[in-house]
Amino acid sequence: MTRIDDLPIRDELRGKSPYGAPQLDVPVRLNTNENPYPLPEPLVARIAERVAEAARQLNRYPDRDAVELRTELARYLTRTGGHEVAKDQVWAANGSNEVIQQLLQTFGGPGRSAIGFEPSYSMHALISRGTGTEWISGPRNDDFAIDLAAAREAIAERRPDVVFVCSPNNPTGTAVEAETVLALYEAAQAAKADTGGALVVVDEAYGEFSHRPSLLPLIEGRPNMVVSRTMSKAFGAAGLRLGYLAADPAVVDAVQLVRLPYHLSSVTQATALAALEHTDTLLKYVEQLKAERDRLVTELRTIGCEVTASDANFVQFGRFDGEGGAHAAWRAILDQGVLVRDNGVPGWLRVTAGTPAENDAFLDAVRTLFKERS
Ligand code: PMP
Repeated sequence: MTRIDDLPIRDELRGKSPYGAPQLDVPVRLNTNENPYPLPEPLVARIAERVAEAARQLNRYPDRDAVELRTELARYLTRTGGHEVAKDQVWAANGSNEVIQQLLQTFGGPGRSAIGFEPSYSMHALISRGTGTEWISGPRNDDFAIDLAAAREAIAERRPDVVFVCSPNNPTGTAVEAETVLALYEAAQAAKADTGGALVVVDEAYGEFSHRPSLLPLIEGRPNMVVSRTMSKAFGAAGLRLGYLAADPAVVDAVQLVRLPYHLSSVTQATALAALEHTDTLLKYVEQLKAERDRLVTELRTIGCEVTASDANFVQFGRFDGEGGAHAAWRAILDQGVLVRDNGVPGWLRVTAGTPAENDAFLDAVRTLFKERS
């Protein structure tokens, strides 16, 4: 049998594993930070209508520049992000993963490097590798906040071309202060002053769930600052694959150099536009999920867990110390029909806020686990 490594693949891909959150068929799935609420029926009907319209023109390529969609995304950001954003400052792609890939293809690549502060979203490192960008693992404090002094030092020393700041951070839930982002931005521009600075990408995939305002206003007057967002979480549309960024119009122009022509299908554009028409309803679910997230934090602490403060739609909990402790706890919770996520952070697991009933099932499973342990 031919194995991957028998093929003439690129050296840096040898022996590596693909992204692989388990997709197991269990009663309660709280492992991939999805929104537990299906789209409301009136929105489903509207999607069907808009997709039917698009279907009548499927013989044609889609709007390559997704003008209507970017206009509506800009309107959404202006309404909710605390900063006025114009269509020319917005770019959209198939999930924020593709946004990040396009940014790395444009600003990273062979001979260049990107830094992130780990534990963080594993795809930042994986997409870096996929685009031939060297990955630099930056530090965090024990409480999972970015260690600013160490981060500045790493930036000054390694001079990365791209800096990832995930806020709220996946998998820890930690939000990053605006002052910290600004300090990192300044450090990155100073370190790369000779080549026009470095791109700072604020990944706000979970921005809508935060207790704090969006970091979007930070793009003002900073051409190397990008905020990336997604419809996978707050809009409950992970299956849609729609991510977007806001930045200086020059960044939007720059990613055109690498994006595939017609990358965003007319079906995708039609569906996303329908969802944006129902923003208010969808944001009400976000409020419910925030309340459930806060309840998870409180109840997990009552059970006796350590919990990392969360600004996202998930909660990091532990501690399951000892060799393989977190994985054993993951398995024990799974045996009770609840799938959570072992992100490989020693001692910690992550649970996504689900419906109240799903969260109750999860909390019962953890209670049982803690009773067995004591
Ligand atoms: N950024 C972060 C921090 C994420 O957690 C995720 C999804 N898990 C993404 C980006 C990518 O999301 P999508 O491609 O679905 O927009």
